[in-house]
Amino acid sequence: MSKDVTVDQMLSAFEAAGMRTTRPRRAMAEQLVAWGAKEKEFSSEDLWHAVQEKAPWVGRATAYRTVQLLQDLGFLDRVTFADGTERYHVVAAGHEHHHHLTCEMCHRIVPVEACIAPAAFEAMAQQSGFAISGHRLEIFGRCPDCQDDAHSC
Ligand SMILES: [Zn+2]
Ligand SMILES: [Zn+2]
Ligand SMILES: [Zn+2]
Repeated sequence: MSKDVTVDQMLSAFEAAGMRTTRPRRAMAEQLVAWGAKEKEFSSEDLWHAVQEKAPWVGRATAYRTVQLLQDLGFLDRVTFADGTERYHVVAAGHEHHHHLTCEMCHRIVPVEACIAPAAFEAMAQQSGFAISGHRLEIFGRCPDCQDDAHSC
């Protein structure tokens, strides 16, 4: 679901949001597209470290702001693990609604299409009087590799 995102798409989204294409932004967009193609997840800190190699003048605050901005623009999806740590993965703009299975051991992320049934949301809204505007749902467990590790201990 992330393979369609290109560096140009990210840079033109920056420009549409009123931001010039700077060398730091290009370096970060290139890194994120490379990670997206590999379906690799990362933290803001990981992005900052990775761009240091090509663009050592990029400040940490800039990297963190860029991750937040790309999340707002719909290019990054935030995933929260059982221990409260957060990672991101690259998604195509206008991607399908999805949730994540997260591994408590190795922090692997597997996107899943499952969600709570619409009827359950309607019942919640009726019982509580809430106008529900969104939800987060993260499913924790151990991936197949990490279950094998547990057996060998
Ligand atoms: Zn996701
Ligand atoms: Zn695992
Ligand atoms: Zn959902």
